[in-house]
Amino acid sequence: TDRQFSVMGLPIHLRDDYSGWLLDRLDQRLGCHVVTLNAEMTMQAEQNFALADIIHRADLVIPDGAGIVFYLRLYGKRVARCPGIELAESILRKAAQFNLRSESLGSKQTSTIESSSNPALSVFFFGGAPDVAQIAADQWQKQLSGLTIAGVQNGYLSAQEEPAFLKTLQTLQPQIIFVGLGVPRQELWIAAHRHLCPQSLWMGVGGSFDIWAG
Ligand code: UDP
Repeated sequence: TDRQFSVMGLPIHLRDDYSGWLLDRLDQRLGCHVVTLNAEMTMQAEQNFALADIIHRADLVIPDGAGIVFYLRLYGKRVARCPGIELAESILRKAAQFNLRSESLGSKQTSTIESSSNPALSVFFFGGAPDVAQIAADQWQKQLSGLTIAGVQNGYLSAQEEPAFLKTLQTLQPQIIFVGLGVPRQELWIAAHRHLCPQSLWMGVGGSFDIWAG
């Protein structure tokens, strides 16, 4: 069941299965921006109108923080907290499963049938200090054999380096793009660039790459 609530004037979307909903969106080629709302972001949005506007326009805003869950409880809404890093991990697992499934379906096709419709879901990690996203990607690749990493980029590229990076992203069209630049930089960056991969799932993941890299 889909429900939407308001926290300090910002939307919160409640779904039974966030990652399942997102994978369905990908299947329908519907692009998506996921925002992980916590108390700090809510306070920032009170003064940062660009950030508030992006949160209002996001396709999915999840209750990431305990403060958000507590606030909703005060208004009688019992909801489960959904930490962004856990949602990101669930998306990676489901993407890997999807790839393994479509691979085995593909191998069962006879040679007369064109190898078809379901390309692998690929993932891009953007953000963090040099090497962090690469180490995080390597860790996940080891854990999930079905995972397809399209590429990685550290979050400290210069203004001169950015155009080439944007071109790469546009060429690769990774279906899942995690951006770990911190709040609100990652939200502003996604809003400014999501048109480059309009059918992709874009999600700000904060310091998740640091945690995955260990
Ligand atoms: N970061 C980055 N580029 C920048 C500034 C920050 O890639 O110009 C990265 C930083 O290395 C860290 C993440 O952004 O991995 C911010 O993590 P934090 O946990 O502070 O994020 P938040 O608490 O805002 O979710």
